[in-house]
Amino acid sequence: MAKWVREIVVGLICAMIFLALISGIDFSLLLLPASMLVLGWMLWSGRTGVSQNFGVRSGLGKEEDSKIPKVTFNDIGGQDMAKGELMEALSFLKESSKTKRLGIRPLKGVLLTGPPGTGKTLMAKAAAHYTESVFLTASGSQFVQMYAGVGANRVRQLFKQARSTAKQEGKTSAIIFIDEIDVPGAKRGTTTSHMEYDQTLNELLTQIDGIRSDHPVQVLVVGATNRSDLLDPALLRPGRFDRTVGVDLPDKKGRLHILQIHAANKPLAPNVNLEMVAAETSGFSGAHLESLLNEAAIGALRAGREEISSSDLSEAIEKVMLGEKSNRTIQKEERERVAFHEAGHAIVSEAVRPGSVASITIVSRNQALGYIRQNPKDDQYLYTKDQLLEAIMVCVAGAVSEELVFDQRSTGAQNDIEQATDLAKRMIFAGLSPLGIVSSELPATTLHETIVQIIAEQEQRVKAFLQERVEVLTRVATCLLEEDSITGDDFRKLLGTQAVS
Ligand code: ATP
Repeated sequence: MAKWVREIVVGLICAMIFLALISGIDFSLLLLPASMLVLGWMLWSGRTGVSQNFGVRSGLGKEEDSKIPKVTFNDIGGQDMAKGELMEALSFLKESSKTKRLGIRPLKGVLLTGPPGTGKTLMAKAAAHYTESVFLTASGSQFVQMYAGVGANRVRQLFKQARSTAKQEGKTSAIIFIDEIDVPGAKRGTTTSHMEYDQTLNELLTQIDGIRSDHPVQVLVVGATNRSDLLDPALLRPGRFDRTVGVDLPDKKGRLHILQIHAANKPLAPNVNLEMVAAETSGFSGAHLESLLNEAAIGALRAGREEISSSDLSEAIEKVMLGEKSNRTIQKEERERVAFHEAGHAIVSEAVRPGSVASITIVSRNQALGYIRQNPKDDQYLYTKDQLLEAIMVCVAGAVSEELVFDQRSTGAQNDIEQATDLAKRMIFAGLSPLGIVSSELPATTLHETIVQIIAEQEQRVKAFLQERVEVLTRVATCLLEEDSITGDDFRKLLGTQAVS
């Protein structure tokens, strides 16, 4: 129903209530029929989908007219494997006559799985562009309603809308993109309002089963999720979501590609080295990298510069990693403690891996009062025992440094201890601890004692190392107290790098 009609109806009802009130009519008799009418209206609007519109986009040509961004596979960086797999899966839409001749049954669904912000939505849009398909989007939460049957109706409506829009647009294919497919597609019987969820999923399965190659409009369902483990196995069986494409966090090469894509419309100063930025942003998703360049551009604008400099980028990395600078006031003694804590981390990090410190700061951001940023050497997927022990040494160095200088540790080391514990646990379950190979049923007390032993041994090594370097520790902490932040290069000038004994 048009918005203006609804507004007139609501206005009329209000006027009638007002008139009834001033003429002294008793309302209690009207309450029951009125509430039934409202409930009926809500159910009807949900069932017929009157209040529900799914986003419709046309893959080619019309996109420009309807001001919808044109996303191609070239706009997606760092997902070469996933792009290849998806493009291969799309060939049946691109070359339907060939696939029909070979008797290939149409692919009905492709599932994109991976962490948030890695480009799953971009991939689905690019797929629509590539296959010149009509593109419909829906989010899983749009199917979740209080009333049984509403979600199932919305699924039916979505498929119907895909076919009718494709016909209207003169297209032969339509891509339906369902983000957060784990919401309607969760394992049956696991959600609190079983009936509604199960009916929605059953309808989705029925609609997918109903996709046929002889239909004038070929429909492909692309689902996206960060939690494929929650999906009902019926959804994943062959003939439904036939392909699962992993869209993972990008590696260094991928990050560089994504940075290049998003930097294409931004003026970068000649000193900017995107390769360095890619190296320093291990673990960032495409969305993080896009945000990083945006924050760097905002930084340049604030400083009144025409170009984005490397310092804008460094600042933006920290902002994306740790959040906005906080303006809380820190007492002098606390500031000194933070400076020695961070200096300790940095000195040990540099000793175990020369060149590893990218920056040190005692400017607080969010919960962090200070931090060091390390340059990951390269993306690393495997760690040796020595590397894990060295990482534990870096973690405990802050607390050890505090103890050396102030005789006592503080709660500032809590996060470091958590990290060190995780690293020690990894060592134990990888069979790299003094326990050798262990099963996952290792008694909790043995696990605890071994973790404590591993961490305590590294603390001793760090203590012995820093005890001989109190002078350099003080030099770095003093510089931090004066400057707030030090770059990795300036830090290295302050110390002569020494190996850990
Ligand atoms: P979610 O799981 O949270 O829905 P998603 O995986 O669908 O996330 P997108 O919505 O596709 O992520 O990406 C968000 C934004 O991040 C994009 O608009 C784009 O600017 C940027 N982005 C993410 N991945 C990439 C990539 N691989 N290449 C280029 N840009 C990317």
